[in-house]
Amino acid sequence: MRSGVALRVAPDGTVKPVPAELAPAGPDTRRFPGTLLPGLVDAHVHSGLVDLGTVRAGGIAAVWDLGGVPAAVRELAERAEASSRHTRRAAGGEQTDRADAAGHRARRAAGGEQTERADAASHRARRAASGEQTERAEAPNRAAAGERADRAEPVGHRAAGGEDAEAGRSRYAPAKLPRIRYAGPFLIAPGGYPSDRSWAAPGSWREIHSPADAGAAVAEVWSAGAGLVKVTAHTGGPQLPHPTLRALVDAAHASGLPVVVHAEGAGTVAAAYTAGADLLAHTPWTERLDDSLLRACAARMCWLSTLDIHGWGEPDPAQEIAVDNLRRFKAYGGTIRYGTDLGNGPLPPGINTREIRALQSAGLTPDDVLGVMTDSDSITEISWVPGGLDLDPERFADVLATARVVDDDVHPTSP
Ligand SMILES: [Zn+2]
Repeated sequence: MRSGVALRVAPDGTVKPVPAELAPAGPDTRRFPGTLLPGLVDAHVHSGLVDLGTVRAGGIAAVWDLGGVPAAVRELAERAEASSRHTRRAAGGEQTDRADAAGHRARRAAGGEQTERADAASHRARRAASGEQTERAEAPNRAAAGERADRAEPVGHRAAGGEDAEAGRSRYAPAKLPRIRYAGPFLIAPGGYPSDRSWAAPGSWREIHSPADAGAAVAEVWSAGAGLVKVTAHTGGPQLPHPTLRALVDAAHASGLPVVVHAEGAGTVAAAYTAGADLLAHTPWTERLDDSLLRACAARMCWLSTLDIHGWGEPDPAQEIAVDNLRRFKAYGGTIRYGTDLGNGPLPPGINTREIRALQSAGLTPDDVLGVMTDSDSITEISWVPGGLDLDPERFADVLATARVVDDDVHPTSP
């Protein structure tokens, strides 16, 4: 943790630590007691099943929506973006926030894990895990997929203050929502999971009929503005054959989109790995993975934790299996992100202390937890722990759960 650091917020919302002496005096500089952090991210939510305004009020600055009705998720994402542009504009450009900044350390923790691996696959996994969308490429069949002439810029970095901002402001009521990166619909085998589940809204999945169809589906996902592709591999129903799964991954990568797989049941993790997938939506929980598969996954993949869905506070045997897999995945150097699968059962809408404690039980230190809950490269939100962060392993989760998202309306009383 660092003291005497100021954070400079650029007009585009990116944040840079600077020496406190450089912070100008005046109304654009706010002094925060406690600790400032990069915005906390939940990398697995379903915005159709939870109220994201509540999630943000519970301290989560950004989410990844991993499966929903594309048009609905996109509208929410645009509302979130419009409101953050509004806030930035109201702030009148540059502003500086000062406090003990743990942000630098958290970013180092998140970014340092993979610095010794140089191969392309792990580079891609790191990009996939970082939440950055800057690598999103042109879609192969853009014409077939529809309009989207505006997709050259990632959603979070579109020029503020232009016509786009005006349109965004008038079209959507201001709503304080977390920043949303999203995956579009579940891409599934015909009749596959989750089309047989009551919680899966019509339109939240898309059946893939052939390798050729895979390319068309990815083009649709891309044109819906998605930054990820979600695929399911579930032994409880029809599964995509390997060539189709492979074709999905290849098409996604050609469009610059990482692939996140819901892998459930024997052989599905190996199938996802072999097809070239970048992320697993859940720490594998249905069986103990053998070391060679774990080692292979760790060299290339990022796993989203989702440990608390197994029992929601009363851990069941599946959580033990998942924690054991995650502990060994971490020991092999695998990349982890905090994700809760919000919308799946009675999870708290905000920072989940049970998920954090389960991560600690898998061997993550408080510093590691900060790394897996924040983006490694650029910061576009700031979280604030008013009473100051406590890195004691016993107290850490409860104290971190007091974090709030900083925006223009947050004015700590100055001394
Ligand atoms: Zn999910």
